[in-house]
Amino acid sequence: MSVVLAVANQKGGVGKTTTAVNLGACLADSGQRVLLVDVDPQANATTGLGIDASNANSVYEVLVNGVALEEIVVETAQSGLWLAPSSNDLAGAEVELVPVAKRESRLQDAVRSVKSRYDIVIIDAPPSLGLLTVNALTAADAVIVPVQCEYLALEGLGRLLHTIDLVRRNLNPALRIQGLVLTMYDARTNLCRQVAEEVRSHFPNTFETVIPRSVRISEAPSYGLPILAYDRSCRAGKAYQALAGELLSALQKVSA
Ligand code: ATP
Ligand code: MG
Repeated sequence: MSVVLAVANQKGGVGKTTTAVNLGACLADSGQRVLLVDVDPQANATTGLGIDASNANSVYEVLVNGVALEEIVVETAQSGLWLAPSSNDLAGAEVELVPVAKRESRLQDAVRSVKSRYDIVIIDAPPSLGLLTVNALTAADAVIVPVQCEYLALEGLGRLLHTIDLVRRNLNPALRIQGLVLTMYDARTNLCRQVAEEVRSHFPNTFETVIPRSVRISEAPSYGLPILAYDRSCRAGKAYQALAGELLSALQKVSA
């Protein structure tokens, strides 16, 4: 059984890419075969894994020119984790795909062709609700929504839920929300604790694991490494390992 997860929230800087990369690496570390698909033109997941984002073989070629996804997949430093890299020209895809037939399901078609080779496919979406995010949601079985523990954390979430609903009604009826992940949590501040409580009261499907704020995890991408390879024992690294465990047991329940 393989599963496709989109990591999405149109709010910028909430920890989508950090979650996609590190959750992916932790799942791979626990024996899963994981493919990370970077559909963000910023290509932060790509460069954060030490892969060149000016490479001609990127998700752009897959979405716009119909190149097979498997042709662009590269290995990463983490064994069991593969990457379908992004490149900056992916920004143009939002416009170039406008006249294309079934433009919302280009990624779904591409992912379907490789799905059986991986246990888990994780898609890192950009901070918008445009065509690239719609492609990510259409390709996915479930969505993971990182939420930063800060003032107005829930702002904009209504629009994301509305978009998920539209995708479900028109393009991908089986799409479900796997859960919200609280990121950049600082237990010393009342605000963080209040935000976490508020999020949990609105969304009972919030993961129990909370990702703490950590300097180590923000340093890791500049070395092109997931946190496991950079500093395995730091608190945020342990948190992503715990999140991977929590996700795997939740997925087992869904498939049971
Ligand atoms: P974008 O919307 O631009 O794609 P994003 O939602 O993918 O952003 P990230 O790039 O993962 O967010 O994180 C934003 C910034 O916060 C980055 O500099 C990242 O290193 C930092 N960051 C993410 N998670 C943590 C954490 N747990 N502790 C400290 N810094 C973090
Ligand atoms: Mg990102």
